[in-house]
Amino acid sequence: MYTLTEADVERYVDQDVIFDRGRAYYRARRVIHLDVNDDRLSARVSGSARRPYQVEIWIDRGILHSTCTCPYDRGACKHVAAALLEWVHRRAPGASPAGSELAEWRARLEAIPPPVLIEHLACEAENDVLIERYLKRWMRELTPEHLPKLIARLFREVRAASPASLERLCERLLHLLDWADSFPDDRAIPVAVEALKRLPVAFPLLPHPARDDVVERALTIIHRRASRLEEGRVARRKLIYNLLGLIEHQTPAWRAPLMETLTSLAEGCGGLSFLIDVVRQRALGGDLGLRRFLAELYKRQGHWDEYERTRVRCLVDEDDYLELFEYYIEENRPEEAMILGERGMNALGVRAPRLAERLTALYLEWGERDMARQHLLRCFRYWPSEQLLQRLDTLFKGHRGWKRQRTRLMKALQAAPAMSTPRSKPASPIDHSQ
Ligand SMILES: [Zn+2]
Repeated sequence: MYTLTEADVERYVDQDVIFDRGRAYYRARRVIHLDVNDDRLSARVSGSARRPYQVEIWIDRGILHSTCTCPYDRGACKHVAAALLEWVHRRAPGASPAGSELAEWRARLEAIPPPVLIEHLACEAENDVLIERYLKRWMRELTPEHLPKLIARLFREVRAASPASLERLCERLLHLLDWADSFPDDRAIPVAVEALKRLPVAFPLLPHPARDDVVERALTIIHRRASRLEEGRVARRKLIYNLLGLIEHQTPAWRAPLMETLTSLAEGCGGLSFLIDVVRQRALGGDLGLRRFLAELYKRQGHWDEYERTRVRCLVDEDDYLELFEYYIEENRPEEAMILGERGMNALGVRAPRLAERLTALYLEWGERDMARQHLLRCFRYWPSEQLLQRLDTLFKGHRGWKRQRTRLMKALQAAPAMSTPRSKPASPIDHSQ
């Protein structure tokens, strides 16, 4: 299915008339539903009968087969052709004439003031049954009650969508969620729940960063209404389990809203202890995102020992190290902070400019000049700069061998001027440390 081309479709539908009619159907967007699963494609195509025709297409030993519920019985019908063309074009961004046409229509539609457009559509619907029929369908689809179904449909389309249509799909989801946010609680919640239910599976397929906006929007809707979520414990717990599926994908953009939403959902069904139990069981699998979240929960509960024990076991990025580093400092345990800082620098190197800065300050504060020298020499390797050299001058004052070493560093600095100038500014660990 994934290598099918328009030429294949044309060959398969061997009558030109049928292929042309199929193409006309495809262009008129008559394929109202399409689902592809490995070597099997199912579609619904609206035809002349009241109910859409159901099309099934599959590949068996390299050969294309198809069935359709329409009466046509002399080989592949126009519905099959339309469904195949829809699939071929959905997969290939930009290759589709309908795709570029759509973009143009969109731009034109956006330029028309809504009252003009509404009036025009209303008048046209009076004169044209087809338009009337479409309008009726859209009116049914675009209602608060129907929105969860529409959201579900959009998510089902994710699997078969091309990169270009995925962008558009995310945008549509965002618009729908924005709209849902203006509904009364009992209407808004099901829309967001539907989205959050389907997000964990679809997330890896959705384009970045649009998907983060979708998650964040859906979380906000729930979070603000969590206290009014009256579906009881079971529904809340179900939603909690769903949201935990998102944790492994979490990004800094919605780490906080996810946390907030989960904790407000947990209130009313066992509170934080319930949440901790669930997360702890899941974190046994070793998922770092879950462990990080568990640490956060312990922190909220004030269970400091557990917090520390969990936090130490999920140090991934600079923020992780910084969080624990600050915790040790607050706890007045500078030695542990130093050990952790060194560990972080070894693990992250050039990716830890803020940690480097904090470590410098800590060494100097506690008079660890030797450690500070070694640390700053390492920093110089990562972020060579004039300032850092001057800083080293102060620390190495009167040291034997410093002059020779300084010459070497100076040479290194001159050898890499292009690299050091732009980097040293934001990343230099001495900018704010004194
Ligand atoms: Zn047919």
